[in-house]
Amino acid sequence: MTGSPPVADPILTLRDVKTHFPVRKGVFKTTAGHVKAVDGVDLDVFRGEVLGLVGESGCGKTTLGKSILQLVRPTAGQITFHDGAGDDVDLQDLTNADLVPYRKKLQIVFQDPYSSLNPAFTIFGSLEDPLIKYGVRPRAERRRIVGDLLEAVNLRRDHMDHYPHEFSGGQRQRIGIARALAIEPDLIVCDEPVSALDVSVQAQVLQLLMELKAERGLTYIFITHDLSVTEYLCDRIAVMYLGRIVELADADDLYANTLHPYTQALLSAIPVADLDKKTDRIVLQGDVPSPVNPPSGCPFHPRCRFATELCKDKVPPLRPFGRNGHLAACHRVEEVMAAGIHSDRAADG
Ligand code: SF4
Repeated sequence: MTGSPPVADPILTLRDVKTHFPVRKGVFKTTAGHVKAVDGVDLDVFRGEVLGLVGESGCGKTTLGKSILQLVRPTAGQITFHDGAGDDVDLQDLTNADLVPYRKKLQIVFQDPYSSLNPAFTIFGSLEDPLIKYGVRPRAERRRIVGDLLEAVNLRRDHMDHYPHEFSGGQRQRIGIARALAIEPDLIVCDEPVSALDVSVQAQVLQLLMELKAERGLTYIFITHDLSVTEYLCDRIAVMYLGRIVELADADDLYANTLHPYTQALLSAIPVADLDKKTDRIVLQGDVPSPVNPPSGCPFHPRCRFATELCKDKVPPLRPFGRNGHLAACHRVEEVMAAGIHSDRAADG
């Protein structure tokens, strides 16, 4: 956890956001269906927080991150950016030209640091690009800024004249972070920023991200499949399954009082050093269903051991439980809790 609890000052508001992709078939490429990658997400992101977005591969978390940044245009719904000075803008309504000033405020760090850097460009060439785009004209000034950025991510100024292949994975991810910082954003979507790195350097990069957040007052949306990472980084965590948020809570509350069977299964897979605190592994049956034809009712029902006929028929709404703003989308939260399966991890401190 970041140590600074989020205040109720939204920087982003998402309402019923859907991002569907057409599936085209045949010679005439007729539309045979849609991949419902994001399928009705309501979410507030608060200024200064780290919001974890977690789930298995294919749950829609990366598409949601790209939809927020308008790198992928949502099919429906509303994504509102609040600048904190009274300017509230619905990003999905803007043309690409009108989006330019908002792209400056919303940046991304990609999963694969190597493919996100052009191998033909020096590091200065890659990092000066956004500076030119946003009006930093004198080359000497751009070199000064790039040098400062490299030092901010614990690299040397002279690294700017080197090429990506000369750096390790961890160093390349530091460069990716420097590029995201170049135009002084308010919010950064960190898309699996350490999953391509050796375990030995993951902690260094995470530590760097948290230091930069504290220094620069940043907001992070931290996308990961790894709930052991979010436990220590995030203020709040949203769990996604088949394009929807199924549980959303403060990090401590999510780990101590897990309400959704899917979250329980994810948590049970985290290795625990203290055997006294180890919970039984919950092995989910089958694969994640196709987002082209998601199951009826609760999309988790074919894999859920608590499922009933109601679950097959009716979509559970994301609704509050308790007084901490803990939300879960499940018809049987009371029964799931009564089964006594929860994580003791957060109680460990
Ligand atoms: Fe399981 Fe039913 Fe809850 Fe879905 S609504 S998670 S199927 S118990």
